[in-house]
Amino acid sequence: MAKYFIKTYGCQANKNESERYATYFEQELSLQEASDWREDGVSEILINTCSVRKAADDRVYSLLRAMGEHFLGVKSGKNLTRRPPPARRSSRHLPHVVLTGCMSRYSEAKMKARYPILSQIVPPNSLGFAYQPQRKDPHQAFISISNGCNSFCSYCVVPYARGREQSRPMNDILAEVAQAVASGFTEITLLGQNVNSYGLEKKNIVERKTDFRLRDAVSNFPQNPDQYTKPVGIPPFVKLLQEISAIDAITKIRFMTSNPWDFHDELIAEIGANKKIDRFIHLPVQSGSNRILQKMNRGYTREDYLSLVHKLRAADPNITIGTDIIVGFCSETDADFADTVSLVKEARFIMGFVAIYSPRPSTLAHKMFPDDVPFAVKKKRFEILDNLLNKQQLDKRPVIV
Ligand code: SAH
Ligand code: SF4
Repeated sequence: MAKYFIKTYGCQANKNESERYATYFEQELSLQEASDWREDGVSEILINTCSVRKAADDRVYSLLRAMGEHFLGVKSGKNLTRRPPPARRSSRHLPHVVLTGCMSRYSEAKMKARYPILSQIVPPNSLGFAYQPQRKDPHQAFISISNGCNSFCSYCVVPYARGREQSRPMNDILAEVAQAVASGFTEITLLGQNVNSYGLEKKNIVERKTDFRLRDAVSNFPQNPDQYTKPVGIPPFVKLLQEISAIDAITKIRFMTSNPWDFHDELIAEIGANKKIDRFIHLPVQSGSNRILQKMNRGYTREDYLSLVHKLRAADPNITIGTDIIVGFCSETDADFADTVSLVKEARFIMGFVAIYSPRPSTLAHKMFPDDVPFAVKKKRFEILDNLLNKQQLDKRPVIV
C-alpha cells in the first residue's frame, strides 16, 4: 500500500493542521502512515514548517538536503541556484514533497532551484477545517479557533507568514468540540495566536493590509485599536468558553496563547468563576523593560503586565502562570535585562520558554533596528533566565493579594 509521511515543526497550530492532513491523505488518497520518510512506498511527504527563529528554518533546509541526497543522489543547497537541477535518478520512486506552514512565504521557484526534491509549496491553512484531525494526544483535543495574527509584534514573522487574523465561526468550533466529545475526549485546548481577540477582528482588515506596517511601527498601547471592534458586553472568546463549559462531558478547557494587551476583565472574571478552565495560564511577557516592550510593539507596560498577574491571582489564588521571554532583542542593555529579571521574580512564574532573539526577514525589527546584542551576551542572558524560570526552586507560591 502507498504511504504518506508528515514532518511537523513548531506550534500546536501546525500540529493540529498536520493531523487534518493525515485524515486527508487517508480518506482522499487511501494512503497509510509511514514512520520514516525513507520507508519503501512513501509517495506523499508533507513538511509543515516553523519560521519564528532562523534555527527553525535551518532544520527544514537540512531535511530537504537529506531528502535530496537520498532520493536524487545529489547534495543540494545554496550552490544549486546557479546550476540546473540535476537529473532525477528514477522518477518512478520519487515522492511528492509538499512544504507548508510559516516557511511557505518563501519563493517556490527559488526553493525548488535550491532543493530539487521539493515539488510544491502551499500556504498554511490551505486545507481548511473540512477534515477532522487524527488526534495524536489521547487526552486533550486541540481545536483551532482562529488563524493568523494582527498584533504585529516587531520581532515576529507570524503575521507575515500566516496572514491576517480570521476567527472561525463559533458554530463550527462547537461542532468540532461535539465531535471530539463523541470520540471520547473530555479535555479541550483552544488554539489561536491571540485567543483574546477571537471574533473581534474587523472584517475589512484584509484590504487595508499595507497600512499596518508603518502604523504598527510607532503605535503603542492600546495596540492597533482600529483593527478590532471593541467588545460590547461579553467578549466572544468568553462566550465561547461559556458555551464549551456548558457541555457536561467536558471537564477541562485550556487555551493558548493569550496576549496580555487585550486580556479583558470579563475573561479574568470567567477564569475566576469557571473551574473547568485550567488554573495554569500561559501569558507571554517577552520583556520586563518598558523601553524594549515598546520597541517590540507589545502594547503594554511592565506595570500593565504585573497588574494583570495580580488581577488573575485575585480572581483565584490557585492560578499559576507561565511565560515566554525573548533575550537580546535589539539594543537590550544590562539595565533592560535587569528589569526582565526583576519582573520574573515578582511575577512568580512556574515555568517559561526563553528564546534568543533571531532577526526575521519581513519584520519591522529586522528592517528598522540593528541586531546589536553580541551572541555571547544573548547566551548568558538566556542561561540566567532559563535557570531562574525552569531550574531553580524559587518561591513560586501564588501571591495572595
Ligand atoms: N502568538 C504567540 C506566540 C507565537 S511565537 C504569542 O504572542 O505569545 C512563540 C514565541 O516565539 C513567542 O512568544 C516569542 O517568545 C518567540 N519568538 C517569536 N519571534 C521570535 C524571534 N524573532 N526571535 C526569538 N524568539 C521569537
Ligand atoms: Fe507573533 Fe505577537 Fe502575533 Fe504572537 S501576538 S504571533 S508574538 S505577532
